[in-house]
Amino acid sequence: MKYVSTRGTPERKQFCEILLEGLAPDGGLYLPEHYPQVSDATLSQWRTIYHTQGYAALAFEVLSLYIDDIPAADVRALCEKTYTAEVFGTGEIVPLRHLEDDVWLEALSNGPTLAFKDMAMQLLGNLFEYELARRAEELNILGATSGDTGSAAEYAMRGKKGVRVFMTSPHGRMSAFQQAQMFSLQDANIYNIAVKGVFDDCQDIVKAVSNDLEFKRKYRIGTVNSINWARLLAQVVYYFAGYIQATESNAQKVSFAVPSGNFGNVCAGHVARMMGLPIEQLIVATNENDVLDEFFRTGVYRVRASADTHETSSPSMDISKASNFERFVFDLLGRDGARTAELFERQLATAGFFDLSTDAAFAQCASRYGFVSGKSTHADRLATIRDTWQRHGVMIDTHTADGVKVALEFRKPGIPMLVLETALPIKFSETIVEALGRSPERPAKFEGIEALPKRVRLMDADVDAIKALIAAECQAT
Ligand SMILES: *Cc1c(COP(=O)(O)O)cnc(C)c1O
Repeated sequence: MKYVSTRGTPERKQFCEILLEGLAPDGGLYLPEHYPQVSDATLSQWRTIYHTQGYAALAFEVLSLYIDDIPAADVRALCEKTYTAEVFGTGEIVPLRHLEDDVWLEALSNGPTLAFKDMAMQLLGNLFEYELARRAEELNILGATSGDTGSAAEYAMRGKKGVRVFMTSPHGRMSAFQQAQMFSLQDANIYNIAVKGVFDDCQDIVKAVSNDLEFKRKYRIGTVNSINWARLLAQVVYYFAGYIQATESNAQKVSFAVPSGNFGNVCAGHVARMMGLPIEQLIVATNENDVLDEFFRTGVYRVRASADTHETSSPSMDISKASNFERFVFDLLGRDGARTAELFERQLATAGFFDLSTDAAFAQCASRYGFVSGKSTHADRLATIRDTWQRHGVMIDTHTADGVKVALEFRKPGIPMLVLETALPIKFSETIVEALGRSPERPAKFEGIEALPKRVRLMDADVDAIKALIAAECQAT
């Protein structure tokens, strides 16, 4: 399998080449040259594999269609090391929970940081360690986080040989629980940096360091953001696992409702559907930051200014643009790289939006690709959390509530609707208290984490000081 950029550069790359890379050199995102087709017979075989050997074995089947530059036995070992009951709290890894007629939750949030990003990031940690050892190289991951991504990255990379993580976060702006999750890590290769500033200051530091190409090369600076193809690929697996659990025969279809921000999660659903998984609809649920809902309703993709990006009670979906969306548009436009480049490079930069409403391709979003969308507000989240608790005795987090709210608008009789549960309520307890008047339960392993010793450096929003820290640590360890 070779990989191509969405912006049309003819060069083809292998999986391990793009594993440690971010964007393609032409600014595009990587996608496989084609989507391997899963026949009815193969799907039946995968059904048996999942039921008899479990999630890791299914993950191997999916991944090995896309990775041919790592020996199969090693890919299998990496899957088995990643998807364990010990790490994900349950042998099923992504169990379904029934809510009501034809509506299920698929739990993706039983990993170490209680959010779905663990599903991909845990595999990425093991892939990075494997590939860096093979090349006898090191990687310094520099990131900016306001919550989920940073903690998922740290829990995935902690103790991994050849990897250091320098994670900036805005000082005093994360919840006490999120701070405790990250700052309590005592691993020598994890560096928490609380920056005196806001999240944008953290992102600016990461950009400034990455733009210093000499520094970037010398210290092997990398990222783990959601545009990484390996992360997306890892996510494809749980669409198959959800389908297999919800159905008994391949003649059945299911729909997925996905709380969406950067379009990474639901893009994995798109890949699964392109491979032939019988998915009826892919339902994109947004919060008040409705860039994606606007596109699927109107055909206009309009990036928001930071002043128009709302801080909401489902904060991991607070985006101004959806960084993975270019992948879907590339497919939608018949994989026309020149046209994708024209839209994302020129039109977005000059006009801040593009309009496909009069393009024949736009109608295919729903008809051919199964995409529909909806939006949920703070009031909807509160009502949905309350309703789900009162009617089903199930407590859901704010992001999942956005998914449930929109899912219920698109139900079709007889077609199981799987809502992806992307976080546990304990991570967003303020809103749970607002909705239910009671706090969510805390999993035992997080009891009292706020009192643990913290390992964090407080630093000014100063690019040179951060570079000096990275350089010093590379020399010291
Ligand atoms: C990251 C995240 C999302 C959004 O996922 P995308 O892949 O960015 O669309 C939704 N919910 C939670 C809890 C998240 O952490």
